[in-house]
Amino acid sequence: MYPKLLIDLKKLNANIDAVAKITKDDGGCSMMIVTKCLCADRRVAELITAHPRVDYLADSRIKNIMKYQDLVEANGKQSVLLRLPMLSEIEDVVRCADISFNSEMRTIEALNAEAAKQGKTHKVVLMVDLGDLREGIFFENEEEILQTAEKIHAMDNVELYGMGTNLTCYGAIIPKNDNLSQLCRIASLVEDRLGIKLSMISGGNSSSIYLVGKGELPEKINNLRLGESFLLGNDTAYGSRLEGTVNDGLLCEAQIVELKNKPSLPIGEVGVDAFGQKPFYEDRGRIDRAILAIGQQDTDRDGMHPLDEKVDVLGASSDHLILDVTKSDKKYAIGDTVRFTLDYGAVLRLATSEYVEKEYI
Ligand SMILES: *Cc1c(COP(=O)(O)O)cnc(C)c1O
Repeated sequence: MYPKLLIDLKKLNANIDAVAKITKDDGGCSMMIVTKCLCADRRVAELITAHPRVDYLADSRIKNIMKYQDLVEANGKQSVLLRLPMLSEIEDVVRCADISFNSEMRTIEALNAEAAKQGKTHKVVLMVDLGDLREGIFFENEEEILQTAEKIHAMDNVELYGMGTNLTCYGAIIPKNDNLSQLCRIASLVEDRLGIKLSMISGGNSSSIYLVGKGELPEKINNLRLGESFLLGNDTAYGSRLEGTVNDGLLCEAQIVELKNKPSLPIGEVGVDAFGQKPFYEDRGRIDRAILAIGQQDTDRDGMHPLDEKVDVLGASSDHLILDVTKSDKKYAIGDTVRFTLDYGAVLRLATSEYVEKEYI
């Protein structure tokens, strides 16, 4: 059945080897592999938990962590909830995640109470916002950070496990030595105030890994969290390929349902397309147009790059993807399939769509 998301387990495993070399051997950090883009796919989770160099598995959704917590426990790893917990999911978070990222006292108090009820100690990483303006206590509010850390430290059933930051998500701010050094400086203040050593100083996601190669990752950062860089081999700060990785461990394959020679410009008055957008059409004259049975419901057309470089993606509606195959060396026929390499957003939707088959190779 098509469309398919092709998951090459050997290539993904090799990508983990490659990012582990950078993160652990060169960077001296522990490594958290982030599972959310593939919706915590079980086969991939098996691969990650079996990999000897992975320390933590992380996801933004507790429902995803629940899919593999048994594997995490069986393989001696730890699971991490990245998105700040909802008050409505505290019981599941304490039961299924070893560690959660937090920035709100009210939530941490709820975690402490629930952990007491379950007879557990739950680990908390306190998030600091260095200017990307998503989660975390704002870095300029040092006293608030210190007081929050003190309160967490005084609780019986949560442990202040570490501190962390997230960048390049909302504000698109690039991690650098200077902003990450702020996190390290604040973490040292916390350690001095409490007289403890924090286990984890987590310096960001796939946009921080490039700092290792430049020798600019601050010494005190001892953890990185990697999703896109292990799936697609990308340094997401500047978009370069990380050494030793491949970007074709995940491919999409979809089937042609119509193949006709038609104009490239629509005929008649132009209104808005299926998504309310005013479209732009390039006049290529008459072209060979292929329609694939996959659409915006299943993928992101801007993140689909045909392996056949002479094929162009023209557009998509909810259930159709339209290609220009005029210049291709291949003579396409109805029933043929076309393969694509993928961007992060396309992988995310393909993995989420129940209409897309997963095939492991
Ligand atoms: C999604 C996420 C990551 C992983 O991001 P990548 O860019 O895929 O490496 C890391 N940390 C947090 C908090 C996240 O939400």
